[in-house]
Amino acid sequence: MNIYAIGRNYVEHIEELNNERPDEPVIFTKPDTALLRNNDDFYYPSFTNDIHHEVEVVLQIGKKGKNISEKFAHKYYDQIGLGIDFTARDLQTKAKEKRLPWAISKGFHGAAPISNFFPIQKFDEINNLNFHLEINNEIRQKGNTSLMLFNFDYIVSYLSRFFTLKKGDYIYTGTPKGVGPVIIGDVLTGYIEDTKMFEFEVK
Ligand code: MG
Repeated sequence: MNIYAIGRNYVEHIEELNNERPDEPVIFTKPDTALLRNNDDFYYPSFTNDIHHEVEVVLQIGKKGKNISEKFAHKYYDQIGLGIDFTARDLQTKAKEKRLPWAISKGFHGAAPISNFFPIQKFDEINNLNFHLEINNEIRQKGNTSLMLFNFDYIVSYLSRFFTLKKGDYIYTGTPKGVGPVIIGDVLTGYIEDTKMFEFEVK
């Protein structure tokens, strides 16, 4: 199973990190060993002092495909969840300065907490979906999927030009503004609309 992720998909997040607005989706991957399921605790690693939370809607691929046209892309994802794209911002900034890959800063142990998944039919309109992240019961990030630069169908179609998507693959679809550091003791709770999707602690 593969994990794909989209960078810079919400304009206000691009602005908060002073990044350029991309013409095409920015793609990166995480190893499946980064997944953290079942509300397991996240253990803060010793190689970074600046882990940021990025709450993101996650799609799950329902059948294998490549070179999928945008028109048919909706047939290839059937489950929706919520995750955190944890980012060691200090390591990422260092890599970006040297124009090196971000792999470590996004792919370390536990860097991909993920909720349980629901059939997309559970939600009325997935292209107009509110989601948010609370830390210690305070709202830190709030997004709506209608604000994505590249929507789900486009992302799936675009990814499938380069990668063969397989049943079970995950796609983290980008984070809205409000990213920031987590510290040991924080409790992160994520919601899609009114549904609590995950809750876990940083240890
Ligand atoms: Mg992200």
